[in-house]
Amino acid sequence: MDRICPACNGLNVIEDQCPICGEILLDGGSLQNYVGPYSPYMESDIENQCIHILYCAECGYDVRIAIPLNSI
Ligand SMILES: [Zn+2]
Ligand SMILES: [Zn+2]
Repeated sequence: MDRICPACNGLNVIEDQCPICGEILLDGGSLQNYVGPYSPYMESDIENQCIHILYCAECGYDVRIAIPLNSI
């Protein structure tokens, strides 16, 4: 059984608001794209999650969120 991230695969659009200016945050993609597979972020306890970076194009705020993977 494979697990996929619904956000990475376009099944789910992340919609969150910037707590600073109220703009809609943009999905910057999976954290794996930034840090690579061997970084300390990729620990076993987040095996079933995909960490995404959301950022605000307006004020530069960014936040990491964990998205549970879907089984397919
Ligand atoms: Zn993802
Ligand atoms: Zn903002």
